[in-house]
Amino acid sequence: MKNRLIEYCRSLNIEYVGIAPPGPYLDFEEIWAKQIEKGHVSGLEEKDIKRRVYPELTLEGTKSVIVCLFPYFTGNVEGANLSKYSYSLDYHIIIKNKLDAIGKFLEANVQDFKYKSFVDNGPLSDRYLAWKAGLGFWGINNHIITDKHGSYVFIGYILNNYPFEPDKPQDRTCRKCLDCVRKCPGQCILGDFTINPQRCKSYITQKKGELTERDIEIMSRNGLIWGCDVCQDVCPHNKNIKTTEIEEFRKNLVHKLCYNELRQISNKEFRRRYGDRCFSWRGKGVLQRNYEIINKIK
Ligand code: SF4
Ligand code: SF4
Repeated sequence: MKNRLIEYCRSLNIEYVGIAPPGPYLDFEEIWAKQIEKGHVSGLEEKDIKRRVYPELTLEGTKSVIVCLFPYFTGNVEGANLSKYSYSLDYHIIIKNKLDAIGKFLEANVQDFKYKSFVDNGPLSDRYLAWKAGLGFWGINNHIITDKHGSYVFIGYILNNYPFEPDKPQDRTCRKCLDCVRKCPGQCILGDFTINPQRCKSYITQKKGELTERDIEIMSRNGLIWGCDVCQDVCPHNKNIKTTEIEEFRKNLVHKLCYNELRQISNKEFRRRYGDRCFSWRGKGVLQRNYEIINKIK
């Protein structure tokens, strides 16, 4: 069945598919408990640590986890003020459709097949699962890296009740050049494959409400009003990589938002124009605020 799964994924243009075991992920639990202790969590993750460790708590009878990577790199664009991951239509929707197609294919071919699929919104650590499933290796910048598409990959996973044979994690890490550590605007890459998301510019650009002086300073260190690509852009593993072969990530791209547009349109009009983009989930006001901070507009 695993070969049929891989074959089906190929027919959907999904090159990276691997299997993670059903847990519990006790090694992850140890790392995560330390992150919580140090306050190095964004607050957007699942709060119940057990649900991050035991897939069974999310899908009863989980026997394996299908993990897929979706490359999204389309090139470096001069003058862009959005992060690369947000150029296309919302990746959550694009990937969820693909994962559900896989789930339906398996439902049709495996008796009593049950599954739940997630893109960014699940209780587990998607990067940990991608590593467990042997799809990439860890970078010091805390990203999962592939040889062909670098670290510009989205991760989706499917908890399911079929015992697919697990793959093995890759026994390697990044080159440890530490360029990402040196150039990180938040100085939050700690050198032990973990980061402090509280100081990460990408996280700060998504923050609602009052920003601290430190947030403002970090945000002003480069021109992106949404996200921050520095630790990926400087990484040698991302040099000379292939652009994505996934059609949906190649078309209908928005690289930049204009201030005048943000200022002039209503929230409703903003949602009409950009509601199907991942950068819109915090609303127009947050993007406008970020633009004003970065470009020092009073
Ligand atoms: S996204 Fe930016 S701020 Fe966040 S860890 Fe990477 S380089 Fe640092
Ligand atoms: S920039 Fe260097 S240290 Fe950072 S992830 Fe890439 S190879 Fe590793």
